[in-house]
Amino acid sequence: LFLDHALAAGSRLPLEREQANYLLNVLRMKSDDTVLVFNGRDGEWLAAVSAEGRKQASLGLLRQTRAQPSEPDLHYLFAPLKHARLDYIAQKAVEMGAGVLQPVLTRRTQVSRLNLDRMRANAIEAVEQCGILTLPEIRAESPLQAVLAALEPERLLVFCDEAMAHASPVAALAAAPAGPVAVLIGPEGGFDEAERDLILARPKTLGISLGPRILRADTAAVAALALVQAVIGD
Ligand code: SAM
Repeated sequence: LFLDHALAAGSRLPLEREQANYLLNVLRMKSDDTVLVFNGRDGEWLAAVSAEGRKQASLGLLRQTRAQPSEPDLHYLFAPLKHARLDYIAQKAVEMGAGVLQPVLTRRTQVSRLNLDRMRANAIEAVEQCGILTLPEIRAESPLQAVLAALEPERLLVFCDEAMAHASPVAALAAAPAGPVAVLIGPEGGFDEAERDLILARPKTLGISLGPRILRADTAAVAALALVQAVIGD
């Protein structure tokens, strides 16, 4: 369970209404039942439930069960999609280990205004579901040129069609030194010529094709992140 509080032994934390309802009425927890909690900074903690009626509860922190892992250094750059598909890629990117989600505005991007709170809620749901302890950073949408100029990871893996891809990219990816990496997935309409030149002009950029079939951007996202995790996983 995600708690936006500092976590320390012996502290007692009040639960939000929604979370109290989830523990008491969905999971049917009683006082002294235990639950694992995290806040994205202090690792994972075992906590005991104190029910206060049917709608209120607090948690007494008992002990830390897992230390806070090092931050994943996988940045996921993507041209945002509409509604449910955006929810989907926000969740899948987190499940696949992305520590930074950076929406990128390209000429053919379908969406220009994003609900970052909705993305954050999806990311927290994915983190709780897959048992990781690091809260991904959800960044505001930004034009491709600005994203590339400010990119922290040196290595950029752009998933693209075969015309734009490098020869035997997976071998190149495997041979590259470990360290932070950014994965870039384009819009449903693809990158335009100028964007392709801009991306490939950037040093330490590798174009990777996932074969001749044209994948939808959300399919490509999962396939690309799975490949990156398999080849250079954290
Ligand atoms: N007609 C568009 C084009 O020419 O790129 C198709 C775009 S595709 C629907 C959306 C994004 O998914 C692409 O920009 C690319 O990042 C990724 N993608 C789709 N198929 C891919 C493949 N076979 N290999 C690598 N990336 C792919």
